[in-house]
Amino acid sequence: MVNFNMPDAAGHLPFYYGSISRADAEEFLKLAGMMDGLFLLRQCLRTLGGYVLSVVFNLQFYHYPVERQLNSTYAIFGGKSHCGPAELCEYYSKDTDGLCCVLRRPCNRPCGVECKAGVFDHIRDNMMREYVRRAWNLDGDALEQAIISQAPQVEKLIATTAHEQMAWYHGNISRSEAERKLYSGAQPDGKFLIRKRKEAEYALSIVYGKTVYHYKIDFDKSGRYAIPDGTKFDTLWQLVEYLKLKPDGVITVLREACPNGSASAGKSEDFVTSICTFFSSSCVALPSLPKVRESTGNFDGYTPEPFFEKARILPMDTSVYDSPYSDPEEIKDRKVFLKREMLMIDEVDLGAGNFGSVKKGVYKMKRRQIDVAIKILKLQDDNEKLRKEELMKEAEIMHQLDNPYIVRMIGVCEAECLMLVMEIASAGPLNKFLSAKKDEVPISNIAELMHQVSLGMKYLEEHNFVHRDLAARNVLLVNQHYAKISDFGLSKALAVNDNYYTAKAGGKWPLKWYAPECIQYHKFSSRSDVWSFGVTMWEAFSYGQKPYKKLKGTQVIEFIEKKERLACPAQCPKEMYELMLDCWIYKMDDRPNFENVENRMRLYYYSVADKTEDPTPSSSKEKTV
Ligand code: ADP
Ligand code: MG
Repeated sequence: MVNFNMPDAAGHLPFYYGSISRADAEEFLKLAGMMDGLFLLRQCLRTLGGYVLSVVFNLQFYHYPVERQLNSTYAIFGGKSHCGPAELCEYYSKDTDGLCCVLRRPCNRPCGVECKAGVFDHIRDNMMREYVRRAWNLDGDALEQAIISQAPQVEKLIATTAHEQMAWYHGNISRSEAERKLYSGAQPDGKFLIRKRKEAEYALSIVYGKTVYHYKIDFDKSGRYAIPDGTKFDTLWQLVEYLKLKPDGVITVLREACPNGSASAGKSEDFVTSICTFFSSSCVALPSLPKVRESTGNFDGYTPEPFFEKARILPMDTSVYDSPYSDPEEIKDRKVFLKREMLMIDEVDLGAGNFGSVKKGVYKMKRRQIDVAIKILKLQDDNEKLRKEELMKEAEIMHQLDNPYIVRMIGVCEAECLMLVMEIASAGPLNKFLSAKKDEVPISNIAELMHQVSLGMKYLEEHNFVHRDLAARNVLLVNQHYAKISDFGLSKALAVNDNYYTAKAGGKWPLKWYAPECIQYHKFSSRSDVWSFGVTMWEAFSYGQKPYKKLKGTQVIEFIEKKERLACPAQCPKEMYELMLDCWIYKMDDRPNFENVENRMRLYYYSVADKTEDPTPSSSKEKTV
């Protein structure tokens, strides 16, 4: 099983305790001696990704909430922003800047004390897996890849809708109905429920001294929930969890949930158990996710349903995430050669190459019709036979591949000409897309797409294929948030136990994308694909610029030999340029492999995934979750 845990920005800090209470924090500080400037960091229960800095001064405790802001920087309310919690602490170790005193001594976790996982961390993995499994009806690899590639989006989706599955959530019931429910049966102090008043407005109803009290919960402009004048929370369930620990202006702390009586509710009042109950009771349906995978066509123009109002279309929502042959009915009589009558070819040209053209079309399968791209070999060519062989080789490679981030082949059709029928990625090549939409695509979006490319390449590496033509022009987009690797015209399956393929003769090669050993020794491996991945990253982060613009292919070789490399693109983050440079390590054995590249892409992408940052705010249409 893969590890897709979201990195905790403070996870590596020795003075970080995770999800401990204020009282526990004070205990640890007492144990460590209570000197001025003694401090520790803990997770904040109120905000997703926020922290609390607990400091001792004059034998008193001070607790400062550190908020993660919309652009993913961190700040103590009213203070300066810092790129991470570690940097923030370092800053306050030099400057009080409003704090009770400077941070002098970290109160490190005593030997044997682990970082305490948060209430959400515990169940995050299982919950995400179950959520994705049910919502998109996925299994196996497709499921794992969905989680890895979409963890930040799915996590946010779950976090912001999880309350709908809680025993204490009663949906749209009236105030009197709430009272009736709370008065039925025993009425211990703290028995509570949450109900919906109208769109984005909720109420908390709670029993105290045999009386029901009602509190309005507002959803403010910043997208947070709060009882008027109370503490603000990103999600309803965090508000509830917090009020279980601290009354925060409410008459008493929340104790027992008044169950809503639905199958998912169970009897437990505990968040963890109730969500686990929910996910293990198979009779419960997930929130009304659009059932897009049933339909045909692609979803570029798909309008999200209300549930997805703030979300974007995820790769799993499109028709090309899973193979059309994942349907057992379709796989039954899958054949490489397709019947011509089942294929309709449009006039629309999707692209061209020296082999002929790529046209749009529709292929009729047993149970559904799918939009396809058809690579058509033009006839009347002198070396027609050779061309046919080449296209068949390309087909043979593609036939063996099945990954959400690789263009799949549907089949081959031999009729008026030889045709390679593929899944369609209608938003076109990555380089063109980015140069045309510079203003609409933030860096985080590019990181997301390049992470997907790295997932596809990792798959090729694992299955012993070398691509040999990885470049931004051969990364096709399904939509702005979904990339697929294409063009297997030069690809090779490596022999068992072989790490590389040796080309017998040179050819029309994309030299600017090739590693030194490809050019010198005609040696092609996953490590040389890693080199090409670096160049592709460079193209992506420079919004579709041409690499080594002023140089000829052969001059690039000298340039590389002189230990020179492409410069960092203007807006490219330093982590990403560092990765490129590693992809361009001269000796192939010293280069990272795709397993490593994917990991680094993932970490970076997760760290920026929920940024709402935008290179040119004026014209952005980018929707972020
Ligand atoms: P070549 O080997 O000549 O580079 P490609 O396979 O890269 O051929 O295809 C050429 C062009 O055709 C691409 O740049 C793209 O615009 C279009 N194209 C190819 N495959 C697809 C596809 N599956 N979906 C949409 N467009 C495609
Ligand atoms: Mg191409």
